[in-house]
Amino acid sequence: MLNLHQENKTYVLTAIRNTFSGLLDILYPRYCFACDNSLHEEGNTYICKNCLEEIKKTDAKRCVKCGFELGIGITSSNKGCPECENSNLRFEKSFFISDNKGALKNLIHQFKYNKHMCLVKPLGDLLINLLIHQDIMPEIDIVAPVPLHWRKKLERGFNQSELLAKKVCKKLSLPISTSNLCRIKNTLSQTQLSRTQRQKNVNGAFKIKNPKLFFKKKALLIDDVLTTGITASECARNLKKCGS
Ligand SMILES: [Zn+2]
Ligand SMILES: [Zn+2]
Repeated sequence: MLNLHQENKTYVLTAIRNTFSGLLDILYPRYCFACDNSLHEEGNTYICKNCLEEIKKTDAKRCVKCGFELGIGITSSNKGCPECENSNLRFEKSFFISDNKGALKNLIHQFKYNKHMCLVKPLGDLLINLLIHQDIMPEIDIVAPVPLHWRKKLERGFNQSELLAKKVCKKLSLPISTSNLCRIKNTLSQTQLSRTQRQKNVNGAFKIKNPKLFFKKKALLIDDVLTTGITASECARNLKKCGS
């Protein structure tokens, strides 16, 4: 008998691993989007050197699955850390540039809420840089951004994860699917919700229009922020139902 569970895998790529607690394009800004320092002396047009260095600095030991910072003496296996083993996350691994703080937090905010679309490029470049160093790279069959409900996309004018995913896929020549995985429930923002409420909020929120398209494929989900991993996990659960 074919064991489909061994065939399909889902990975997650996000800009930020958030800690769980509770269209204007400017082509040549004179100030760093993350810290407001002048960029006059620098060739970089969006982010200053200091902020870039801060973003790229990663030293903490992390869980390979949920990205949780592991305390002293706590280890994680391929199945995850004690924290995420209990939450039954349905994806295999997650990757992110940095925590939701400092320069990167500011950049995501400028991109997502202040709609500085020019930031797709530097943020996309950071994701590409992160992804090309991962051993899962050759395994990826398809990339899917975490979808927004059509109403939310209309309100914001764009899906930030889709724009980042397009950038990554174009540069790395990866196949992308932007409309097969869709959000059918206009869920509340997860920010203010508890873990249980978050799970309830995303239950039944996603649907796959054409399951054949994801049949036996190893998928890379792209989202801007990963907090508890519940949203990504619910997407992964749907992807796995397609014969994964
Ligand atoms: Zn800066
Ligand atoms: Zn974990």
